[in-house]
Amino acid sequence: MTGKTTISLILRNGQLLDPGKGELLSGLEVQIDGERISAVREQGSVAVGDAQVIDLGGRTLMPGLIDCHVHVLASNANLGVNALQPNAIILYRALPILAAMLQRGFTTVRDAGGADWALARSIALGLVPGPRIFASGKALSQTGGHGDMRARGELLLSEPCSCCFRAGAIARVVDGVDNVRLAVREELQQGATQIKIMASGGVSSPTDPIANTQYSEAEIRAIVDEAHAANTYVMAHAYTARAIRRAVECGVRTIEHGNLVDAPTAALMAAKGAFAVPTQVTYEMLAEHGAAAGLPAESVAKIEDVRQAGRNALKLFAEAGVEMGYGSDLLGEMHQYQSYELKIRAQVLGNLAAIQSATSVAAKILQREGELGCIAPGALADLLVVDGNPLASIDCLVGQGEQLAMIIQSGQVQKNVM
Ligand code: ZN
Ligand code: ZN
Repeated sequence: MTGKTTISLILRNGQLLDPGKGELLSGLEVQIDGERISAVREQGSVAVGDAQVIDLGGRTLMPGLIDCHVHVLASNANLGVNALQPNAIILYRALPILAAMLQRGFTTVRDAGGADWALARSIALGLVPGPRIFASGKALSQTGGHGDMRARGELLLSEPCSCCFRAGAIARVVDGVDNVRLAVREELQQGATQIKIMASGGVSSPTDPIANTQYSEAEIRAIVDEAHAANTYVMAHAYTARAIRRAVECGVRTIEHGNLVDAPTAALMAAKGAFAVPTQVTYEMLAEHGAAAGLPAESVAKIEDVRQAGRNALKLFAEAGVEMGYGSDLLGEMHQYQSYELKIRAQVLGNLAAIQSATSVAAKILQREGELGCIAPGALADLLVVDGNPLASIDCLVGQGEQLAMIIQSGQVQKNVM
């Protein structure tokens, strides 16, 4: 990448965690040239040349983590308040959020509303430390939907035109088949890598009960059609079985949250090859810290409906064979709990499934298999050196990265305390 130095590194004497195989492999070494892994081979089988050799001392070497559902610009848990902040304040508040994500070992994230191409580009250029971002731009919401932050009575506070949205707004309000087509084209033209829509009610918005479906089927089909035309896909915020079913039947590829899914709907998702991105940690943390963090009372009241169901949904998806990506969806001060979703997943589904959700499955969701979430020649060199074995205890990945001895992103050493 532009503006970065190219290094040649050989990582030796580690235990390779291959998420696809689910075991630790010893006796291998990994070579990094530039931003990619150039070789994975038997240790010491070729001459080192002038590459820098790093002895991992038996630690675990694994792919960098991928979080498929974040909002890096949501520094305020009250998204309505967040949306009204000046752009510079939103950006400066995002910088520590981004840096902390990388320090937790998240070398890539998919932003589910808010982050744009310019922010993703700034990180790719090395201007700002943070995870590689797959940005959705503004999520699309219908009037009165999960992205419509206007309180009742605020009818005159209408949406700005698409050229002057505030950075802190995670969504834009758009209705009608022709208008949603235009909105998708605008988001893609501005550099969104996938399209996010709000397909059911939600927690952090004032006037949309969770049981409601959002957008007509004609609108969802038009959005999917435009995304497919651009060789990308649609991710949909959806809680209930009803909302999930209609989204998936209209061609939506990834279901975000999915807490109130039922077995027949999970089976439909599996049959259609749709992915789930549960975000259980956000309900656990909202229940504990939401009110103190500034979440409005009407949102706090919605949490319990989805929190209890969320753990059960993890089991329903697993039983149906739906592949699950890692999602945290934390807001404001709660960003610090990003890696606790690993602990929740491990408790319900086991350590390997938790790790796969944030590596191999996440890479499939991002349509970057072989490039992300794996340790293989040609893959981007996003690697973690872990003090401990996450297959034996997930705790070494939980917290703020305390047990990460080394973090490498695109071949650049971002942390090294070995
Ligand atoms: Zn959502
Ligand atoms: Zn979200």
